Amino acid sequence: MPGVDFRQLRTEIPMRQVLDALGFEPTRCTGAQWRGPCPIHGSSSPRSRSFSVNVDSHRYHCHRCGSQGNQLELWAAVHQLPLHAAALDLCRALHRDVPWIHRW
Ligand SMILES: [Zn+2]
Repeated sequence: MPGVDFRQLRTEIPMRQVLDALGFEPTRCTGAQWRGPCPIHGSSSPRSRSFSVNVDSHRYHCHRCGSQGNQLELWAAVHQLPLHAAALDLCRALHRDVPWIHRW
């Protein structure tokens, strides 16, 4: 299977779009810094703020389960997929083409 250009994927897909696809609803937004229930470990309270994400720098961090990373790693963590499979899955979910790495 050809490689996926993760870098291009991260450039093209904003964190906002990934959060949207995950049905994330922030409980608090301070500028680009959003907080809310963690979609990875599944916060029991919808008002939880353990999950912190920056929609400008596309990085997230959960104070509870310790998970952190970029938007692609978030998708992989929520769906418990390896990065390559997560990239394909994310593209499918957002109805977009996979940025394959073409080797000549
Ligand atoms: Zn968490």
